[in-house]
Amino acid sequence: MARTPLNLEGFRSGKLVGLKRYDQNSLKQWRWLCLCDCGNTHVVLGARLKDKHAQSCGQCGLKQERHPRTHGLSRTPEWNAYMYAKTRCTNPNTIGWKHYGGRGIKFLFTSFEQFLADIGPKPSPKHTVDRINNHGHYEPGNVRWATKSEQLMNRRPVKPIPRDPKTKRFLKKELWPA
Ligand SMILES: [Zn+2]
Repeated sequence: MARTPLNLEGFRSGKLVGLKRYDQNSLKQWRWLCLCDCGNTHVVLGARLKDKHAQSCGQCGLKQERHPRTHGLSRTPEWNAYMYAKTRCTNPNTIGWKHYGGRGIKFLFTSFEQFLADIGPKPSPKHTVDRINNHGHYEPGNVRWATKSEQLMNRRPVKPIPRDPKTKRFLKKELWPA
């Protein structure tokens, strides 16, 4: 009699969170694709996740790989974009951390499927994930695919620093006109 396979979607053990059923091993035991808090993906036996034996990807703190190579999904551009955005919000060791996680931007998608359903397929290699409200989080309703120039248009324009008309030096902030 076949047992009902465990549903570990969203199940947390230590730093690992179950994402989706991945495959079965030779003993017909399900393996689960997990996301580690460090940003890496990891595949573990569902049973080992469930009994909290598996606690992390085992690669935490090591240099991030540009393309996680644990599973077939890593080849899709959407998955790479998902991982990239998530990592910038969760791993202080990533380049650009100060612009994302470091300034409080959170990654609130709970699964790759949720992310993909919200943002849709990547239109072209020139498109990257953009937050519609630049001060908001990565969350359902606030992400879109945008090209570099579309993203720049989305930023608030930076006012030039006023200069003293006589000396041509930059004015101190308290002297700026309102
Ligand atoms: Zn990890």
